[in-house]
Amino acid sequence: MNHTPQQICQALEEAYQYAAQWVGKGKMPDFIPALEHEDPRRISVCVTDLEGNTYTAGSYQGRFSLQSISKIILLEQALQDSGEEVVFSRVGVEPSGTSFNSVYRLELIEKVPANPLINPGAIASASCLTGRNKEEKYQKFRALAGELLNDPTVDYDPVVCDCEMKTGHRNRALASMMLHNGVYTGDPEEYLELYYRGCALRVTAAQVSYFGAVLAGDGLCPKTGRRLLSREHSELYRALMATCGMYNTTGRYAVQVGIPGKSGSGGGIVAAARGKMGLGVYGPELDGNGNSVCGMKALEYLSRALDLRSY
Ligand code: GLU
Repeated sequence: MNHTPQQICQALEEAYQYAAQWVGKGKMPDFIPALEHEDPRRISVCVTDLEGNTYTAGSYQGRFSLQSISKIILLEQALQDSGEEVVFSRVGVEPSGTSFNSVYRLELIEKVPANPLINPGAIASASCLTGRNKEEKYQKFRALAGELLNDPTVDYDPVVCDCEMKTGHRNRALASMMLHNGVYTGDPEEYLELYYRGCALRVTAAQVSYFGAVLAGDGLCPKTGRRLLSREHSELYRALMATCGMYNTTGRYAVQVGIPGKSGSGGGIVAAARGKMGLGVYGPELDGNGNSVCGMKALEYLSRALDLRSY
């Protein structure tokens, strides 16, 4: 069923009011000290339809850290640069059943990370970027992110990136472990920094909803109809989001929301309702698994109100 702009705006406003009731129920991400001081009341709820119209409720213009949502874009760059054979020799496509920065699996279960949406998987994707040096690799990735987020000026926040480079000891351990395991050769510090720059991209919820619309539209730009992602890659990303997108809460999210989604510890969530619309929500407080508490509530509301369930 197609919704009128009025119906979408009303659903967004209601979803925003509903989500706001959960302010104070989560925790700020203390594992990234640079993000600890965001305002927990700053919630945004946005939708972009497949014609490129964006609808918003809440403080949608505020920027936040893309964090884990960037893992999808990093994977796309890895696939463009090195192809499926190389990428999927370094990372799998199965849910991990462990937290996003767990070291346990790489030591005791499998040498290769379970999927590209957990930290070691994204670091493995970063190892597949090609270019003469780190800067060239980053600029290519940044240009792709600019297209997919409809913001050619998008860039990373050096304060957040440096903070993670200094304090992300588990991720450094994961990057070194993969070198030890023979997942890749080269410089794990470079892969780690490329990964962190992606995480530190500064975005708005409206831009995240636009990215959701690209995924929902099988890779077409919702404004111009130009192809930004192949149909196959869009299917791959939606499948990974559906099975691995919300860390250890992926099952509960599937039950409650039922739209392929990917959360980031910066408080954002992207969701892609195929053939319908993209959703971008933000609320900085996280649940115990690293997902935005208010963002999840907003998606739960919108899924029902706009009949967006995919499964
Ligand atoms: N930069 C964060 C980390 O590596 C990303 C975690 C996330 O968003 O899941 O810990």
